[in-house]
Amino acid sequence: MSKTIIISNRLPLQISIENNHLDVTPSVGGLATGLKSFHKDGDSIWIGWPGLTEEEIPENLKDEVQKKAREENCVAVHLTSDEIDGFYYGFSNRTIWPLFHYFMEYTESDDQFWKSYQEVNQKYADEILEHYEDGDVIWVHDYQLLLVPKMIREKAPEAVIGFFNHIPFPSYEVFRTLPWREKVLEGVLGTDLIGFHTYDYERHFLSSVSRILRHQVDFNEVTLPDRIVKVDSFPMGIDYKKFEQAALDHFKSTSENQSELQRRLDHHLEATPEAKMILSIDRLDYTKGIAHRIRAYEYFLDKNPEYIEKVRLVMLAVPSRSNVPQYRRLKREVDELVGRINGKFSTVSWTPIWYFYRSMPFENLIDLYTTCEIALLTPIRDGMNLVAKEYVATRTDRTGVLILSEMAGAAHEMNEALIINPNNFEQVAEALKTAFHMPKEEQMERNKMLQKRLRRYSVEKWAQDFMKALRGTKENRDSFKATRITSEISEEIMEQFKKAKKKILFIDYDGTLVNFVNKPEDAEPDADLKELIRTLNSSEDTHVILISGRDKNTLGSWWRDIPVELISEHGVWMRQIDGEWELSENVKSEWMDAVRPVIENFVDRTPGTFIEEKNYSLAWHYRKADPQLGEIRANELSNVLKELISNRGLSVLEGNKVLEIKSSDVNKGKACTKKLVGENYDFIFAIGDDWTDEYMFQELPETAYTVKVGIRKTSARYYVEGTPKVRTLLEKFRDNL
Ligand code: UDP
Repeated sequence: MSKTIIISNRLPLQISIENNHLDVTPSVGGLATGLKSFHKDGDSIWIGWPGLTEEEIPENLKDEVQKKAREENCVAVHLTSDEIDGFYYGFSNRTIWPLFHYFMEYTESDDQFWKSYQEVNQKYADEILEHYEDGDVIWVHDYQLLLVPKMIREKAPEAVIGFFNHIPFPSYEVFRTLPWREKVLEGVLGTDLIGFHTYDYERHFLSSVSRILRHQVDFNEVTLPDRIVKVDSFPMGIDYKKFEQAALDHFKSTSENQSELQRRLDHHLEATPEAKMILSIDRLDYTKGIAHRIRAYEYFLDKNPEYIEKVRLVMLAVPSRSNVPQYRRLKREVDELVGRINGKFSTVSWTPIWYFYRSMPFENLIDLYTTCEIALLTPIRDGMNLVAKEYVATRTDRTGVLILSEMAGAAHEMNEALIINPNNFEQVAEALKTAFHMPKEEQMERNKMLQKRLRRYSVEKWAQDFMKALRGTKENRDSFKATRITSEISEEIMEQFKKAKKKILFIDYDGTLVNFVNKPEDAEPDADLKELIRTLNSSEDTHVILISGRDKNTLGSWWRDIPVELISEHGVWMRQIDGEWELSENVKSEWMDAVRPVIENFVDRTPGTFIEEKNYSLAWHYRKADPQLGEIRANELSNVLKELISNRGLSVLEGNKVLEIKSSDVNKGKACTKKLVGENYDFIFAIGDDWTDEYMFQELPETAYTVKVGIRKTSARYYVEGTPKVRTLLEKFRDNL
């Protein structure tokens, strides 16, 4: 039976070792809850680091760790403390984390970190491959494992792989500064589906893929030579019922079983009934804007002294990554700020900030969520911010006001909160005043909407939606019309080829025999290719025709000394084997003078584009233009041209990063069928990558072997992934001559 393999940096387990005794308990983070329905009954395994380094686990307990992990359907990836330093504290948290959160000044480019990141990613990938079986679905999580998808794909090309990025993806302008940007993008593109929390992160990622790797991006799909990768946004929710139920239980509890924290909170409420508590909870991370928040609070009290003794900031900062210098500096800064502000505003009976530097058990979190009338969550950047969602879920009487930074992913779904820019202290201060005075009815109205959405889009729903979309990519792959040429199919074609008495091969040039290059004039055939074509065409019963959109001079000079038939400009010219060029009937070129200035205008406005002038057609190339601008202008030009050329017997061909205007009577389909007239070929083969090659695929008889290069919609019967595969196929023809 096929299973789901989940991979994250950490396993959802707590491991402790005391007196040489091992204790393993499942941990109940959001991700573990969301994946619960997939991670049960042995139909899934979870692969990750158990949380203790190799050095921390005594030799005699190593097997025990794995055994106990297996009881929870988990597999432990053992990492040394050096690996944790380089891969986790290093590359993950000192390079990717700051860069993806726009803290470029904190981003370190250290070769050793990068080396360790690659090695450890390989370790995770190897562990996955150990457990992978055909039909399994693999889901990789987060920024620590960006290279894993490609590493799996290399060994298991048919695997269905998803990736979810739990942190922001930065704008191309920021991402491009990473020295290993290509490798990182290629790594994650090993997937079938990539998920982000918001559409903005998705957009930034696609823009980087298209600009850095120059892959074709159509809406939310990236077309690679061998696959299509889908990119989508899935905002992660929380275990809504758990938080709601905990709050309901909390209100039922009696004074005897109250926590010490709750007693102190209640004491404060009784002493100052009009006063309000403002909650702030985060990991102590520079992305969370904690220092900004304290300063904004100071600004608020300075400007509005009437709130002194009426508000109190209850601030929980959870220790995090204290091995990284910036986190240690931040801790000092926050300590100093809290001390200074408490010193500045405190009265005999009141301190403005209650500051906790620790992590709290779940029950205490619920105490804080349910008691504080206002939550002030102001990250400078945050992939999602689950605390905001948890706060709203626990407000079971629907009172409470959430003030939330627009820089948190959660802000996209939580419009009814008071959304602020954390850098604008005036706005934060105003929001605090609004929250303080917001009528109960309005609070309830806002929370009602928020709760409805959070309840519906819970973490379980998030995981289900992602898995459904991931499985959908497999169905898409399966329903892809053309069939991939596997070694068996290739054998079958060769059998037919050998048997046939009279054979013809139509072969496109750019994107089929050679890869695309930035300057079209640089795509000259190499010596091996020339030799291959010469040999293929040397047999009496095999007729090879190179059929291209290129102009006759270029094509003619490249194949000058090779006896092969050429068709140039989609069929305008044909070169016989003896080197004589013939013009096809009915092609005209008078229209060019009217059309050229229009295209020139687009060249002037779109850097990187140029006109290629052929004998009977004009082509506008935009491969080197900014990809997005190129697409926009191509659309615009296509519309302008279609209007201009209507009723002139011309057509606009939309090729691979090129628009071409030519006579409608000329296309590759017509050119090849002309070659078949009066002949009795019993083996017809045509191969091409482009939209213009579709004419061949459509017009050739059904018995023809038509092959598309690359995975795109096609009328061809078969496809191969890229130019290297085309060569292999043609070499097989040669070997079977
Ligand atoms: N949290 C916790 N113990 C604490 C404080 C917070 O377990 O003492 C939890 C909190 O309930 C939330 C998570 O930590 O689920 C923080 O998630 P968030 O998305 O807000 O921030 P992250 O730390 O992932 O950047």
